Amino acid sequence: MDAVELSWGARCAGLAFFVLSVLVVALAAVLLLVRRWPWCSCHVCRTYLTGSWAKDFTNLGDWYAHLLRESPTGTVHIHVLGCTVTANPANVEYMLKTNFENFPKGKRFSALLGDLLGGGIFNVDGDAWCHQRKMASLELGSVTVRSYAYKIVAHEVETRLLPVLADAADKGKVVDLQDVFRRFAFDTICKISFGLDPGCLDLDMPMSDLANAFDTASRLSAMRGAAASPLVWKMKRMLNIGSERELKKAIKLVDDLASAMILQRRKLGFENAVVAGRQDLWRGSRRPSAAGSQ
Ligand SMILES: [Zn+2]
Repeated sequence: MDAVELSWGARCAGLAFFVLSVLVVALAAVLLLVRRWPWCSCHVCRTYLTGSWAKDFTNLGDWYAHLLRESPTGTVHIHVLGCTVTANPANVEYMLKTNFENFPKGKRFSALLGDLLGGGIFNVDGDAWCHQRKMASLELGSVTVRSYAYKIVAHEVETRLLPVLADAADKGKVVDLQDVFRRFAFDTICKISFGLDPGCLDLDMPMSDLANAFDTASRLSAMRGAAASPLVWKMKRMLNIGSERELKKAIKLVDDLASAMILQRRKLGFENAVVAGRQDLWRGSRRPSAAGSQ
């Protein structure tokens, strides 16, 4: 087949389009840099930017807690991140109750967690949040359900959590409390939600694959927030490389294992499960491409 000869005009138009695209991308990069450039030179911002907080603290959370303790108002601003951290009860009440409508999670936050949480109650604002909040209240607010959940938590505490801690105390063993409570929470949630007992609160047992996959997916989703620009993780997701490839695998594992549990519960019947099959409460209408358009 003969190659098609482009006319002089078409070549010029192509070149002009290419140059214009490069200029637009360059302008976007400059604007992003200007917006994000760390202008602030206050003590907190300098400590953050130079990473010198790491000399005294093992993680950012501990450093924030230190700053909050030192702050007379219980609130600190990290200007270069455009973020405010508060431990002041009056502020928390104002944000979560008095003026809740004014503090949405926002599209940027929803995009970060969109692939994992989709349009579920933990990742939406406005009418979608109100609708799911009402659904959740109806499902979980009844006396029967609350008393059922209370019985399960009490049983889990008495027959598993306390014995595990007592055994560690008797033997003088060191336990990782975060791991213990993570197992406790996972067992309890599975029992309440699916009526199934994964039995993770036995420190000799390996942690559930579902819990591990969910933790991995949460961590990798949170890492998106640390990217220099959302474009970075969106490009990685499009090319299916690096952490985005791992995230995709972890989310698929969560989906497969949760579906298997729901299927198992359906086969057993629903008499002992509160919200089995109501995964829409957690994840809304998540589909594989739900966050692709964010
Ligand atoms: Zn500052």
